Amino acid sequence: MARPRRTSRMTVEECRCLDVDAMRRAGIFASPTGSTWRVAWKSADGESDTTICYAISANSGCVVLCMNVELNDGASKGRMPDGYSIEITTTEPRYWFRCPLVRNGVACRRRVGRLYQPPGQRIFGCRACYQLTYDSCQRHDKRKSALIRDPLALARALQSRNPRQQILGIGAYAQAVARLAKARRR
Ligand SMILES: [Zn+2]
Repeated sequence: MARPRRTSRMTVEECRCLDVDAMRRAGIFASPTGSTWRVAWKSADGESDTTICYAISANSGCVVLCMNVELNDGASKGRMPDGYSIEITTTEPRYWFRCPLVRNGVACRRRVGRLYQPPGQRIFGCRACYQLTYDSCQRHDKRKSALIRDPLALARALQSRNPRQQILGIGAYAQAVARLAKARRR
């Protein structure tokens, strides 16, 4: 069952994800320039939802590779910008995407291992640009908030022999202290 969320921030789990390391493991970067590949995502009902076709091409004289991405699903067809490409860079043996998003006229170009496409967005971008969080973070935050509201449970967590409970308790305690300090400053 899905747990309720504490915040309304979108999670990475809700987005389509491109994983550069999965591409490397699949041998994509070792294949000849111009080879084409596809990656497909399924919707919740198991039907094929989106397919992306791309080709790896080398940029003249540098280690940078460009990737053309085309969305093939019905909803997004034709919605990707013409000549859309994502730059790939390498620090041997690792590969990275350069985030292609431009925010307020400034290109992000962050070096990241994963790019995400949130529902309704045309372009892949990094977690920071889309302000994405993880499901697990939100659940962790929710458990911390519950401890802050229940001092007895917080005391039990702090004294627990389970290190995960202890860490959760310490996090909740630190958050409670920070909230008190903030309230005093007002
Ligand atoms: Zn970015």
